[in-house]
Amino acid sequence: MTRKQAWLTALTNRFHKLPGLWRGKVDSNGALTAQILSAITDSILVTDTDLRIVEVNAAFTKITGYTRNEAIGQTPRLLKSGRHGKEFYQRMWSALLVTGKWRGAIWNRRKNGEIYQVWMRISSFKDKTGKTTHFLAIFIDLKHQKALQNQIHLLAYYDSLTGLPNRELFNDRLALALIQAHRDKNKVAVFFLDLDRFKAINDTLGHATGDLLLVAVAHRLSNCLRESDTLARLGGDEFTVILSGINSQAQATTVADKILDCFKQPYTISRRELFICASLGISLFPDHGIDNESLVRHADTAMYQAKQMGMSGYVIYAPSMDLRHEQRLAIENDLREAINENGLKLVYQPQIDIKTGRITTLEALLRWTHPEKGNIPPSHFIPIAEESGLIFEIGSWILDTACTQVVAWREKYGLDLCVAINITGLQLRNGKLVERIQKALDKARLPPAALELEITENVLMDDSRETIKTLEHIKRLGIKIVIDDFGIGFSSLNHIKRFSIDKLKIDKSFIDDLNYVDGDKQLVKTIINMTHDLSLVATAEGIEKQDQLRELEIFGCDMAQGFLICAPQPASEMDSLLLNNAPWHRCFDTQDTFNADSSLIME
Ligand code: C2E
Ligand code: MG
Ligand code: MG
Repeated sequence: MTRKQAWLTALTNRFHKLPGLWRGKVDSNGALTAQILSAITDSILVTDTDLRIVEVNAAFTKITGYTRNEAIGQTPRLLKSGRHGKEFYQRMWSALLVTGKWRGAIWNRRKNGEIYQVWMRISSFKDKTGKTTHFLAIFIDLKHQKALQNQIHLLAYYDSLTGLPNRELFNDRLALALIQAHRDKNKVAVFFLDLDRFKAINDTLGHATGDLLLVAVAHRLSNCLRESDTLARLGGDEFTVILSGINSQAQATTVADKILDCFKQPYTISRRELFICASLGISLFPDHGIDNESLVRHADTAMYQAKQMGMSGYVIYAPSMDLRHEQRLAIENDLREAINENGLKLVYQPQIDIKTGRITTLEALLRWTHPEKGNIPPSHFIPIAEESGLIFEIGSWILDTACTQVVAWREKYGLDLCVAINITGLQLRNGKLVERIQKALDKARLPPAALELEITENVLMDDSRETIKTLEHIKRLGIKIVIDDFGIGFSSLNHIKRFSIDKLKIDKSFIDDLNYVDGDKQLVKTIINMTHDLSLVATAEGIEKQDQLRELEIFGCDMAQGFLICAPQPASEMDSLLLNNAPWHRCFDTQDTFNADSSLIME
């Protein structure tokens, strides 16, 4: 018995006990019964044996349009639609007389003339002697019932936010697609798509904006797929696609390109333009799996791989990735442990003023020596720290440690040293960065002008309100902003002007080719001139050769950093460098090319 049936039985029993109610007598329980009647959402109609209506409830009035007063004293013919013939009513009555019950669908007419169909259950009531005293009809509007069923279906199989199929329906459809592909001997592609930085958008711009963005993404994605493809939302910012009836991997990658194109244009959400990228992993039936579970898992693994490569892209699953995925999770756990057990260290790399040869700034660079794996490069673990959210804790520690350390050197050696700290886009988009910086400056008593924040060009491309607000706030505090790895990203001069940047650090790749490729020489010269035209300071990083430094000096570059001058050093090794802050070429053996071995030892 369903809950609803149990409830109706209980109600019917109650009517048995209170026959006086619909004869107009109010007994001690009458008020309660009236309340129960009005609370029931199914329509109720009670007649005596002359078929005169003696009671109806509020739901009856709602569905039929007749008030209680209009209905009482009338016969149920009041509701007749004219759609049923005599035999219909005869069958109903004979069932009622023989079994005391009737149930079925019946067409009725509302007071306003509208015809509607209800599902009706009628039971007769008998007194102690077995004589029928009343009839009780309970009915529901079938249109509403169907809508309800549809709603239940929608809730069970569709995502309520985007209206896309949910995991349940996705699995059903994938299972069907696999059976069909097996029969037709063709392929099925499963895409696993995850939005990059979605968590940050949600955290900084709020869930309402996040939701609107998901809806907009769902809409754009649906538009670039065929009717026969399934686009589903598994939850959060994870979408999946089933491409059935394909014959080759190339067909899948063509669609992958189309999907990624959906992220080239910004999304306008609440009159704000948001750039978002996505990482896409692809697995194919039967090549990478023959069941739902393995295909989805492998597409997910490939997606992780795509994420690691950065910037909107797709990757097709390969078995070798499984290991990498697990290794990644292991690294995340080990990193967590390293944070708790002070396993992270900072090293410092000097930047010199090319004119004077003296150190003006120290860039703090993170080092992690894993107990078993040895040194893990920051380029390897910082993306994992970002993805897991550990970057916030690590970032705070870097700020505190580097600021305190540089203040100690400033005081010890009487130098006007600056410290440069690398900041990721995620840190910048998180509303707490300014507060964290302020705390670190106060704690260390470092003047804001002595702090430089290095951000990569692509971070500037993020026009989110939070990023703009944070950068403006940082500038107002008097902190300098540096564009790191300049030249390899996508920033425009417009962005650079807009954010009032202080310094550009020309990427190592341009410096590397300085001596060989004429074109790059010109490029570096142009970048330096442009930097000066914008009243910014030009820094060159990754200088390994004397010739490179010489060229840069001729081009008028202001600052230099690289192994030629000094490799990153642990704090304990910095004293000899900072003592007197002698121009670097007097400090080190003048050499044409830095010695990689000795540099590594220094690091
Ligand atoms: P970056 O900020 O551009 O840092 C410069 C990188 O180039 C450093 O690598 C440095 O050791 C290396 N380098 C400096 N001079 C030379 C040279 O002459 N030749 C060569 N081959 N390399 C040189 P590192 O420390 O491995 O850092 C790599 C990147 O990781 C950094 O690039 C930065 O984006 C990121 N990173 C490092 N430390 C941190 C940190 O504390 N926080 C954040 N958010 N990112 C960091
Ligand atoms: Mg840097
Ligand atoms: Mg750099």
